[in-house]
Amino acid sequence: MAYSYEAPVSQSLFDRASLVTPGGVNSPVRAFRAVGGTPRFMVSGNGPYLTDADGREYVDLVCSWGPMILGHSHPAVIEAVQSAVARGTSFGTPGEGEVTLAEEIVDRIDPVEQVRLVSSGTEATMSAIRLARGFTGRTKIVKFAGCYHGHVDALLAAAGSGVATFALPDTPGVTGAQAGDTIVLPYNDLAAVHDAFRAHPGEIACVITEASPGNMGVVPPLPGFNEGLKAACAKNGALYISDEVMTGFRTSKAGWYGVDGVVPDLMTFGKVMGGGFPAAAFGGRRDVMAHLAPAGPVYQAGTLSGNPIATAAGLAQLRLLDDAAYEKVNAVSAEIQDLVTQALGKEGVAHRLQTASNMFSVFFTGSEVRNYEDAKKQESFRFTAFFHSMLAQGVYLPPSAFESWFVSTAHDDRAIERIAAALPAAARAAAEATEVSA
Ligand code: PLP
Repeated sequence: MAYSYEAPVSQSLFDRASLVTPGGVNSPVRAFRAVGGTPRFMVSGNGPYLTDADGREYVDLVCSWGPMILGHSHPAVIEAVQSAVARGTSFGTPGEGEVTLAEEIVDRIDPVEQVRLVSSGTEATMSAIRLARGFTGRTKIVKFAGCYHGHVDALLAAAGSGVATFALPDTPGVTGAQAGDTIVLPYNDLAAVHDAFRAHPGEIACVITEASPGNMGVVPPLPGFNEGLKAACAKNGALYISDEVMTGFRTSKAGWYGVDGVVPDLMTFGKVMGGGFPAAAFGGRRDVMAHLAPAGPVYQAGTLSGNPIATAAGLAQLRLLDDAAYEKVNAVSAEIQDLVTQALGKEGVAHRLQTASNMFSVFFTGSEVRNYEDAKKQESFRFTAFFHSMLAQGVYLPPSAFESWFVSTAHDDRAIERIAAALPAAARAAAEATEVSA
């Protein structure tokens, strides 16, 4: 596909980056491989906008993949960070900020009685699984195809659909041994979960699921699915781990738990709770968390865990996330969703907009998407055309058809008008796209 706009400074930065960093980026999806073209190197963010190294401004619908729920450079977050920085950047000792952040999480989310802070969502899920294995004395874990839980070896496996498939690693570097105890099941399929428990009695330590998946595009749990997981785990002595790294503190004050009320044994968090800094957490039942070192035998640690700048940023952000803030994010999201469906509908583009509270994504297919196999059937080449048209018109979408879009409280009328103005041409580009042009 030919792109009719240029980004010479980003291109030269990408050329430099590609010499010293594999693929030119520090996290693969940033490289635009799914959509082609030059990734934009951003130099600043303000409210709903990002500005790239070529001086172009974009309405940001990625929000750093979720964390920036108040928009970029929110004054209260910046102020909290500046005042924390002035007191020092890392002590390697306990500090009050960690306690206050932990209290805020425990206050918001009833099933979390105790919480341990870490630095990334990957660390949170990795540690939660280790804890589940240590607590139950069992080895196997269940995950769902299309759910992403960070780049934990045992979780980088998503063998296609089918019942109780033993996972083959998705990536070189993950050995069969590391993924061999991972059972990958189709999402939203409770019968497959029951079959797995029947096939492996007394062997499954935990079931981990995205509370409401956003990593295959937005594919919410069908009514009763999370409840069914919880019940199956309880019946079979396994722990139910709800990964709320993406949904936590975003889909409501209490994340997805605040939406469906299903009580997990353990939960994982990241993104929003760090206010744009590396802070994440896992927590849950007190008796399970008591197995964690130094209280218990399951080891887990981190030099920068509970970092004072990250905790200050996270706390400042969470304190602003009251009911009114969620109402605003939900309203912004609903408005953009309407605009997108109207524009695509007008051009006759088959699409399916799926939502989980204020998270949403567009699948270029006429059918409902209930799992990863369904998601893969969409016409992604239409997304490619849609994406590049929006980018050329100053709207920054996630550079993949398999990602959630994210909005913030800072998306105001001006930002929404710019999205509305860009959509007709982008919808036309999607309508006219062919597999060959992508
Ligand atoms: N879990 C979920 C649901 C995620 O969406 C992500 C990241 O996108 C992770 C875990 C991993 O978090 P991190 O990228 O902070 O390691």
